[in-house]
Order: sequence, then C-alpha cells, then structure tokens
Amino acid sequence: MALRLEVDLDKIAHNTRTLVRRLARRGISVTGVTKATLGSPEIARVFLRAGVRSLGDSRVENIEAMRSAGVLGTMTLIRPPMLSQAARVLQCADESLNTETEVIVALSALGVQTGQTHRVVLLVELGDLRDGIMPADLFDVVRETLRLPGVRFRGLAANLACRCGVVPDARNMAELSSMARAIESEFGVSTDIVSGGNSANLEWALSGAEVGRVDNLRLGEALLLGCEPLHRHPIEGLHGDAFTLTSEVIECKVKPSKPWGDRGQAAFGSHTPAEDRGLIWQTIVALGLQDTDCSGLSPPTGTSILGASSDHLVVEGRVAVGATMPFQVNYSALVRAMTSPFVAKVYKGGIA
Ligand SMILES: *Cc1c(COP(=O)(O)O)cnc(C)c1O
Repeated sequence: MALRLEVDLDKIAHNTRTLVRRLARRGISVTGVTKATLGSPEIARVFLRAGVRSLGDSRVENIEAMRSAGVLGTMTLIRPPMLSQAARVLQCADESLNTETEVIVALSALGVQTGQTHRVVLLVELGDLRDGIMPADLFDVVRETLRLPGVRFRGLAANLACRCGVVPDARNMAELSSMARAIESEFGVSTDIVSGGNSANLEWALSGAEVGRVDNLRLGEALLLGCEPLHRHPIEGLHGDAFTLTSEVIECKVKPSKPWGDRGQAAFGSHTPAEDRGLIWQTIVALGLQDTDCSGLSPPTGTSILGASSDHLVVEGRVAVGATMPFQVNYSALVRAMTSPFVAKVYKGGIA
C-alpha cells in the first residue's frame, strides 16, 4: 500500500531501553503506554523486551487486542474503567487506575463472582483537573477499597499536563509522596506503586530532584517519539524519527500561489488566503485529514505544507507523480495515522 506508516522498532527499543535505564538510577520503573499505537502488539513486545515493568493503555479494546495477540506482561488500564465495561476490564487487565467508589464496588463484586483479585490503583487530582480523586476524599476511597473483597489496593497515581498543561514539579510530586506516606501510617498498608505521571514528568524525574516515594512513570510519547510533551523538546540520546508516514504523489503542477474567484469556507473551515508569490510548484500527496493531523506532519527539507482536505495534502515543491513522499509525525499525527484504516502499518526491525 502506498499510504503507510513505517515503524522502526529498533529505534523504539533504543528509546525504551535508554529511558528505562536512566529512570532505574532514580528508582523509577516504566509502564509502557500503548494507547497512541492502538495497542500495537509489535510495539508492546518491544516495550517489554526493552525492560518496562508493565504495559498501560486507556482503552479496554486495545488491551484485549494485545491479549488476543498473545502479548504477555502486566496490563494496566490507565483510564478509569467504564462501569459498563467492568467485566471486560477484569478479564483483560491486571490492574486499573480508579477514581470512583461505585466502579471499585462493581470490580469487587465481579471479582468475588469470578474468583479474581483485581488490583486497584487510586488516581489523585493534583491540579490538572482531568480525572482524579480530590485529596480531601482520598482516605474515604482507600478505606472503602481496603474493606472490599475481590480487589486489592495497590497504590497511588497522578496525572498532570494532559488537560490544562499543569507542570509536574517538586511541589506536586512531594504532595503525592506525602499522600502515600499518610495512607501507610493511617491504614497500616504498603503502597506497592506510586506512579507519578506521564512523559511530562521526565524533566522533573531526571533533574536530580528528590523523587520521594514516586517509583513509576507511565510513558508513551517519550518512548515512541523521543520527545517530552511540555515543550516538545527532543530528549537527548533518543530517536525522534521512529515513525514515518509515507504516501504517493498524485499531481505535480506549476500553479499560482494565490487562489482566484470569490471565496467562502473551505472543506474544513476557513483558511487564511495565500499571499501572491507568483507561480509555484504544487504537489498533491494522497493522504489527508481523514488519515492524520496534517498540521502535525514535518515534510522533507525543501518542501512545505500549504494545506489539506480529507484526502489531499497540498505541498509546495516538485516531486514526480508516482514518487512517494515521507513525513515525520508529531503525537497528534501519530495517533490519527495509527487509527486510520487507510494507513498500512509497516514494521521493521525489532527482532532481538
Ligand atoms: C496518555 C496517558 C499517559 C501517557 O502519556 P504520554 O504523554 O504519552 O507519556 C500516562 N498516563 C495516563 C493516565 C494517560 O492518559
């Protein structure tokens, strides 16, 4: 297939091994997050071979896909379970991040019925205002979880930077550590895991700051794209080009740079009118907004992206009809390319 996402598994393995090693020195294990790859079994296996402690995904469907492909290893559902999917969560995941007592009660009842013990990690709100138990309510939820049969309290997790961009730092991570300590002294239990956050925590974790009780991070973007999500800076020593989205050129012509005629909205809303730069070489690549986030693509040097519609990517530059053009992807472009059924996934490397 001409429209394809090429995945270099060796580069992902290198990124994973490197971060697993750097974080191990700080006493922090890695959960490899597969959600951006639609739960790709190939990538999950690379994560496991490169030394992650467990796999994490936000969707039950992805965890089920990895399980049916025979991926072994601990699976963590990193989005609080839907009440309606509690039975499926129990079936495919070893543990889940939870914020609602009602859901934990359902997991408990099903656990008792099926003779399983699901591991519950409580997700606490530290200010980014997405999912999480308010700190003032944490003791109540811990008490309830410890009381329930069929589930086991495993520890705490936090998640920052995803909704509001709140930065993980010494202050909020210390707050998480002190919550873990407070639970241990109040209830006389041990917190096996204190998962501090996602790729946005790396700057804090590798800065030499006191990590306190934090002993795990859940990493997706950093392993896959070699960058941190707060400023999208490349992480030293990692590959940023493990994924390449490629498609075929279907038109290449000299055209005016400025459209003519009266103008209304374009297919995906209004576009800023192009300035008149005279005649240019315009190339159309057979891929579009249905396949990826075109604003998250980096074109080859000497070319630039002019615009996109559902199925057409318009590039400035001269590339022959029938030739293919490669693009690097950011996180948003990656997620959508992995999700498009039109994009063939082509894996190379990874056998070790
Ligand atoms: C997506 C997600 C992660 C991984 O985030 P990255 O920025 O890709 O590292 C970790 N934890 C939770 C709860 C998530 O939703």
